[in-house]
Amino acid sequence: MEEELKRLKAEAEEALAAITDASGLEPFRVRFLGRKGSLSTVMRRLGQVPKEERPRLGQLANSIKQEISDRFETLKASLSSGDAGQTKGREDLSLPGRYLPFGKLHPVTQVMEEICSIFEGMGFAVAEGPDVELDHYNFEALNIPKHHPARDMHDTFYVTESILLRTHTSPMQARIMEKQDPPLRYIAPGKVYRCDSDITHTPMFHQVEGFLVDRDVSFADLKGVLTSFTRRMFKDDLALRFRPSFFPFTEPSAEVDIACVICGGSGCRVCKKTGWLEILGAGLIDPEVLKMVGYDPDVYSGFAFGLGVERIAMLKYGIDDIRLFYENDLRFLTQF
Ligand SMILES: [Zn+2]
Repeated sequence: MEEELKRLKAEAEEALAAITDASGLEPFRVRFLGRKGSLSTVMRRLGQVPKEERPRLGQLANSIKQEISDRFETLKASLSSGDAGQTKGREDLSLPGRYLPFGKLHPVTQVMEEICSIFEGMGFAVAEGPDVELDHYNFEALNIPKHHPARDMHDTFYVTESILLRTHTSPMQARIMEKQDPPLRYIAPGKVYRCDSDITHTPMFHQVEGFLVDRDVSFADLKGVLTSFTRRMFKDDLALRFRPSFFPFTEPSAEVDIACVICGGSGCRVCKKTGWLEILGAGLIDPEVLKMVGYDPDVYSGFAFGLGVERIAMLKYGIDDIRLFYENDLRFLTQF
């Protein structure tokens, strides 16, 4: 019986060495280690050997079984970890390396940086302010007193009666003007919040507000700056249209359209057959707003504008659903 055990051990070792992939594991286990395997069959006959031989042979059989099953488990682990090829010295040196994907900036961040760099090129400084804002800066200082109907347009998230999530980045205009004297030339990029959600609105989006205050600033200056901006953002000979509008903090106010960048002005689904796309709101700063920060409106004048970053990104890249920006789908994000 001792002979038989030693022969089995040698056989098992040989069989183990011949296993090269996971498919060889199970047949080996059944043949040697299973309940009907050869080791178990031999061990079952222990009862027939002479009594005085039994302990020694039993110990031998157990240690052989233990050794084989340990080696089997080790081999199984190395095969399933997938690097069996390397451990067995069969590396394929011609295989390409594994690359880690590069991270990149979110399309909204990219467009925001592009907008800022165009305005910085025109001499505007960048100012950032708090997302959680006082009612005073978000509304009152911009000529929107309590109960003013314009507040309804904003769908505001209130924290308390006097604290809110800013609905535009325009509060920076009041914050800067109350601390500094003209001439001023600033843009304020950042997140803004409104209680609104559909294919063109998300409860959080990005805005860039800009303003300029100096002596003798006219509507012509505003037109020049915005024309220059939209042409650098989209294309050189882009047509621009100013439509009269109303904002409480500018007078006169205008909404600005650009010729549809999809169809070039001939009319398509995106521009609703009009040939024009609304892109931003703007106007000359209302004298009331200048008075509130202590500027003399007879000496100083200025203009302000606000544009939606997602809106510009959608037009620039032909995206028709704003929610795509916030679903974190890599198939979408890696296109930029
Ligand atoms: Zn169009």
